[in-house]
Amino acid sequence: MVLQPPCEGKILLHACCAPCSGAIVECMVRSGFKPVIFWSNSNIYDRKEYELRRAEMLRYAAQYGLEVVDDDYDHPAWLETVRGLEREPERGKRCLQCFRYRLERAARYAAANGFSILTTTLASSRWKDKEQVNAAGRAALAAINSAGPDPVWWDQDWRKGGLQIRRSEIIREQNFYNQTFCGCDFSKLQQVESRGQAGHHDADHAHQLDQDVQ
Ligand code: SF4
Repeated sequence: MVLQPPCEGKILLHACCAPCSGAIVECMVRSGFKPVIFWSNSNIYDRKEYELRRAEMLRYAAQYGLEVVDDDYDHPAWLETVRGLEREPERGKRCLQCFRYRLERAARYAAANGFSILTTTLASSRWKDKEQVNAAGRAALAAINSAGPDPVWWDQDWRKGGLQIRRSEIIREQNFYNQTFCGCDFSKLQQVESRGQAGHHDADHAHQLDQDVQ
Protein backbone atom coordinates (compact mmCIF):
# COMPACT_ATOMS: atom_id res chain seq x y z
CA MET A 1 0.00 0.00 0.00
CA VAL A 2 1.26 3.48 -0.88
CA LEU A 3 0.84 5.87 2.01
CA GLN A 4 0.06 9.50 1.29
CA PRO A 5 0.23 11.67 4.39
CA PRO A 6 -1.70 14.95 4.13
CA CYS A 7 1.51 17.01 4.13
CA GLU A 8 5.24 16.75 4.67
CA GLY A 9 6.89 16.80 8.07
CA LYS A 10 7.18 14.86 11.29
CA ILE A 11 4.50 12.32 12.14
CA LEU A 12 3.22 11.69 15.66
CA LEU A 13 1.43 8.36 15.93
CA HIS A 14 -0.77 7.97 18.98
CA ALA A 15 -0.62 4.26 19.84
CA CYS A 16 -3.34 2.59 21.90
CA CYS A 17 -1.61 -0.82 22.13
CA ALA A 18 0.85 -3.05 20.33
CA PRO A 19 -1.75 -5.27 18.61
CA CYS A 20 -3.43 -2.23 17.03
CA SER A 21 -0.08 -0.65 16.15
CA GLY A 22 1.72 -3.60 14.57
CA ALA A 23 0.61 -3.35 10.95
CA ILE A 24 0.46 0.45 10.95
CA VAL A 25 4.00 0.84 12.21
CA GLU A 26 5.29 -1.77 9.78
CA CYS A 27 3.48 -0.10 6.88
CA MET A 28 4.76 3.36 7.77
CA VAL A 29 8.35 2.19 8.11
CA ARG A 30 8.21 0.20 4.86
CA SER A 31 6.85 3.30 3.16
CA GLY A 32 9.82 5.32 4.32
CA PHE A 33 8.23 7.13 7.27
CA LYS A 34 9.61 7.11 10.77
CA PRO A 35 6.82 8.13 13.16
CA VAL A 36 7.35 9.02 16.77
CA ILE A 37 5.01 6.94 18.90
CA PHE A 38 2.96 8.73 21.53
CA TRP A 39 1.90 6.34 24.29
CA SER A 40 -1.00 7.99 26.14
CA ASN A 41 -3.54 5.57 27.52
CA SER A 42 -4.80 6.58 30.95
CA ASN A 43 -8.02 4.76 30.13
CA ILE A 44 -6.40 1.41 30.87
CA TYR A 45 -7.26 -0.20 34.18
CA ASP A 46 -5.66 -1.55 36.27
CA ARG A 47 -2.04 -0.51 36.57
CA LYS A 48 -0.81 -4.06 35.96
CA GLU A 49 -2.81 -4.24 32.74
CA TYR A 50 -1.43 -0.85 31.77
CA GLU A 51 2.17 -1.92 32.32
CA LEU A 52 1.69 -5.16 30.36
CA ARG A 53 0.33 -3.29 27.36
CA ARG A 54 2.95 -0.57 27.61
CA ALA A 55 5.78 -3.12 27.75
CA GLU A 56 4.50 -4.78 24.58
CA MET A 57 4.40 -1.42 22.79
CA LEU A 58 7.95 -0.60 23.88
CA ARG A 59 9.15 -4.05 22.78
CA TYR A 60 7.61 -3.66 19.33
CA ALA A 61 8.79 -0.08 18.78
CA ALA A 62 12.33 -1.09 19.72
CA GLN A 63 12.40 -3.56 16.83
CA TYR A 64 12.06 -0.62 14.44
CA GLY A 65 14.24 1.73 16.45
CA LEU A 66 11.32 4.11 16.92
CA GLU A 67 11.18 6.74 19.63
CA VAL A 68 8.32 6.35 22.10
CA VAL A 69 7.05 9.33 24.08
CA ASP A 70 5.67 7.92 27.30
CA ASP A 71 2.85 10.14 28.55
CA ASP A 72 1.83 10.19 32.23
CA TYR A 73 -0.61 7.57 33.46
CA ASP A 74 -3.47 9.36 35.22
CA HIS A 75 -6.46 7.07 35.47
CA PRO A 76 -8.33 9.27 38.01
CA ALA A 77 -8.24 12.18 35.53
CA TRP A 78 -9.51 9.90 32.77
CA LEU A 79 -12.34 8.67 35.03
CA GLU A 80 -13.32 12.27 35.64
CA THR A 81 -13.54 12.88 31.93
CA VAL A 82 -16.02 10.02 31.39
CA ARG A 83 -18.07 10.63 34.54
CA GLY A 84 -21.76 9.99 33.88
CA LEU A 85 -21.01 7.82 30.86
CA GLU A 86 -20.01 4.68 32.73
CA ARG A 87 -22.88 2.53 31.42
CA GLU A 88 -22.48 3.56 27.80
CA PRO A 89 -21.78 0.67 25.41
CA GLU A 90 -18.57 0.45 23.41
CA ARG A 91 -18.69 2.87 20.46
CA GLY A 92 -20.96 5.12 22.53
CA LYS A 93 -20.44 8.53 24.11
CA ARG A 94 -17.91 7.28 26.67
CA CYS A 95 -15.62 6.07 23.91
CA LEU A 96 -15.83 9.41 22.12
CA GLN A 97 -14.76 11.15 25.33
CA CYS A 98 -12.03 8.60 25.86
CA PHE A 99 -10.63 9.18 22.37
CA ARG A 100 -10.78 12.93 22.78
CA TYR A 101 -8.97 12.80 26.12
CA ARG A 102 -6.08 10.81 24.72
CA LEU A 103 -5.92 12.57 21.37
CA GLU A 104 -5.95 16.02 22.94
CA ARG A 105 -2.88 15.06 24.90
CA ALA A 106 -1.29 13.84 21.69
CA ALA A 107 -2.35 17.00 19.83
CA ARG A 108 -0.81 19.25 22.49
CA TYR A 109 2.43 17.32 22.37
CA ALA A 110 2.47 17.39 18.57
CA ALA A 111 1.88 21.14 18.43
CA ALA A 112 4.49 21.88 21.08
CA ASN A 113 7.15 19.73 19.46
CA GLY A 114 7.01 20.63 15.79
CA PHE A 115 5.01 17.74 14.41
CA SER A 116 3.13 18.41 11.18
CA ILE A 117 0.91 15.33 11.22
CA LEU A 118 -1.07 13.51 13.89
CA THR A 119 -2.76 10.15 13.57
CA THR A 120 -3.70 7.21 15.79
CA THR A 121 -3.91 3.45 15.83
CA LEU A 122 -7.30 3.61 17.58
CA ALA A 123 -9.37 2.81 14.50
CA SER A 124 -7.39 -0.19 13.33
CA SER A 125 -9.67 -2.61 15.16
CA ARG A 126 -13.09 -3.50 13.86
CA TRP A 127 -14.33 -2.96 17.41
CA LYS A 128 -13.91 0.76 16.89
CA ASP A 129 -15.97 3.28 14.96
CA LYS A 130 -13.62 4.89 12.43
CA GLU A 131 -15.74 8.00 12.04
CA GLN A 132 -15.86 8.44 15.80
CA VAL A 133 -12.08 8.21 16.00
CA ASN A 134 -11.58 10.70 13.17
CA ALA A 135 -14.11 13.10 14.69
CA ALA A 136 -12.26 12.89 18.00
CA GLY A 137 -8.92 13.54 16.31
CA ARG A 138 -10.18 16.62 14.49
CA ALA A 139 -11.90 17.92 17.61
CA ALA A 140 -8.73 17.36 19.63
CA LEU A 141 -6.69 19.45 17.22
CA ALA A 142 -9.35 22.15 17.13
CA ALA A 143 -9.41 22.30 20.92
CA ILE A 144 -5.75 22.88 21.62
CA ASN A 145 -5.42 26.47 20.37
CA SER A 146 -1.69 26.26 19.85
CA ALA A 147 0.37 29.35 19.24
CA GLY A 148 2.15 27.99 16.17
CA PRO A 149 0.83 26.12 13.12
CA ASP A 150 -1.44 23.27 14.16
CA PRO A 151 -0.61 19.73 13.08
CA VAL A 152 -2.92 18.19 10.49
CA TRP A 153 -5.12 15.19 11.25
CA TRP A 154 -4.29 12.17 9.07
CA ASP A 155 -7.50 10.21 8.57
CA GLN A 156 -5.96 7.27 6.74
CA ASP A 157 -8.14 4.14 6.79
CA TRP A 158 -5.77 1.79 8.62
CA ARG A 159 -7.91 -1.27 7.89
CA LYS A 160 -7.55 -1.13 4.12
CA GLY A 161 -4.71 -2.09 1.80
CA GLY A 162 -4.22 -5.48 3.46
CA LEU A 163 -3.55 -3.99 6.87
CA GLN A 164 -6.44 -5.81 8.55
CA ILE A 165 -4.98 -9.19 7.61
CA ARG A 166 -1.44 -8.09 8.41
CA ARG A 167 -2.66 -6.87 11.80
CA SER A 168 -3.73 -10.38 12.79
CA GLU A 169 -0.56 -11.94 11.33
CA ILE A 170 1.70 -9.65 13.35
CA ILE A 171 -0.26 -10.35 16.54
CA ARG A 172 0.49 -14.03 16.05
CA GLU A 173 4.09 -13.54 14.91
CA GLN A 174 4.88 -11.31 17.87
CA ASN A 175 2.86 -13.36 20.33
CA PHE A 176 1.59 -10.15 21.88
CA TYR A 177 0.04 -10.22 25.32
CA ASN A 178 -3.56 -11.32 24.83
CA GLN A 179 -5.84 -8.38 25.60
CA THR A 180 -9.33 -9.63 26.31
CA PHE A 181 -11.08 -6.29 26.77
CA CYS A 182 -10.77 -2.79 25.36
CA GLY A 183 -9.01 -1.29 28.33
CA CYS A 184 -11.08 0.62 30.85
CA ASP A 185 -12.83 -0.55 34.01
CA PHE A 186 -16.20 -0.46 32.25
CA SER A 187 -15.15 -2.51 29.24
CA LYS A 188 -13.72 -5.06 31.66
CA LEU A 189 -17.03 -5.17 33.52
CA GLN A 190 -18.96 -5.54 30.28
CA GLN A 191 -16.66 -8.37 29.26
CA VAL A 192 -17.30 -10.16 32.57
CA GLU A 193 -21.05 -9.64 32.22
CA SER A 194 -21.17 -10.91 28.65
CA ARG A 195 -19.08 -13.91 29.62
CA GLY A 196 -21.56 -14.66 32.36
CA GLN A 197 -24.44 -14.51 29.90
CA ALA A 198 -22.74 -16.54 27.20
CA GLY A 199 -20.88 -19.04 29.35
CA HIS A 200 -17.27 -19.42 28.33
CA HIS A 201 -17.68 -17.70 25.04
CA ASP A 202 -14.53 -16.72 23.26
CA ALA A 203 -15.75 -13.54 21.61
CA ASP A 204 -13.69 -11.40 23.95
CA HIS A 205 -10.51 -12.66 22.31
CA ALA A 206 -11.61 -10.89 19.16
CA HIS A 207 -10.42 -7.67 20.76
CA GLN A 208 -6.97 -8.75 19.89
CA LEU A 209 -7.36 -11.07 16.95
CA ASP A 210 -10.19 -9.23 15.23
CA GLN A 211 -11.88 -12.42 14.19
CA ASP A 212 -15.27 -10.88 14.70
CA VAL A 213 -17.19 -9.39 11.81
CA GLN A 214 -18.75 -6.31 13.34
S1 SF4 B 1 -14.39 0.87 25.99
FE1 SF4 B 1 -12.34 1.38 25.23
S2 SF4 B 1 -12.58 3.21 23.93
FE2 SF4 B 1 -14.42 2.98 25.20
S3 SF4 B 1 -14.06 4.21 27.02
FE3 SF4 B 1 -13.38 2.15 27.54
S4 SF4 B 1 -11.19 2.12 27.01
FE4 SF4 B 1 -12.08 3.92 26.03
